[in-house]
Formats: sequence, structure tokens, C-alpha cells
Amino acid sequence: MDNCIFCKIAKGEIPANKVYEDEELLAFHDLNPQAPLHLLIIPKKHISNIMDMDAADSDLIGRLFYKAQEIAKNHGCEEMGGRFVINCKSHGGQTVDHLHCHILGGRPLSWPPG
Ligand code: 5GP
Ligand code: ZN
Repeated sequence: MDNCIFCKIAKGEIPANKVYEDEELLAFHDLNPQAPLHLLIIPKKHISNIMDMDAADSDLIGRLFYKAQEIAKNHGCEEMGGRFVINCKSHGGQTVDHLHCHILGGRPLSWPPG
């Protein structure tokens, strides 16, 4: 998708501090971290948000979550846990319109969201 910052990161047109990459998924450090660990994992395929997901994307998104928990474990979150967050559209506070899951950890995280 033209002009999508995460598509550009997925294609290597914009640099990112990557922690995992395969043919269909990419994980990298968030530019503006909100916790000691703050990563983003995206499908390389452009899906604007979770409400734009098709049934055909189910396996891909399942693999995204499986990889997200594996990465969280590899970054020291297995014992204390953390948070896996997908913001959606304006009420969800989504600012980048390419589906991404935040992986947050390394400190206690408050709930409920403000
Ligand atoms: P959202 O608010 O859409 O759920 O999250 C978007 C996230 O992307 C934010 O946490 C923001 O810091 C991060 N972000 C925005 N632009 C870039 C970028 O160019 N590179 C990286 N690594 N993160 C970005
Ligand atoms: Zn995109």
C-alpha cells in the first residue's frame, strides 16, 4: 500500500530495529517505547486494521500471535508476562493504519486503559 509507513518498513524502504523477520511477518522496536520492552509485530501484507481482516487472514493472524508470544518469551517476559495490544481505528487510538500488535513488557502495566 502506497504511503503506508509499516509497508515501507516491511519492504526495507524505511529502517527499523528488527528483532524477527520471515516471509510474512516482521517484528521491530517501537520508535516511542512505552515500557522497557515495546515491540510491534506486523503482517507484511497490508491489512488496515483488525476489522478489515478477512476469514482468509485467520491463519496468518494466528501465526502472528504465536510468534508474538515466542518473541515476548525470548525477550524475558515469560515469567512476569506483559501485554499484547491491537488498537483499532479512532476510539482504539490507532495511529498507523497497518494492522500491528504491540508487545509490551518489563514493568507492571495499568488497567483499565484511560
Ligand atoms: P498505534 O497507536 O497505531 O496502535 O501504534 C503505532 C505505533 O507505531 C506507535 O507506538 C508509534 O510509536 C509507532 N511508530 C510510528 N511510526 C513508527 C516508525 O516509523 N517506526 C517505528 N519503529 N515505530 C513507529
Ligand atoms: Zn501497510
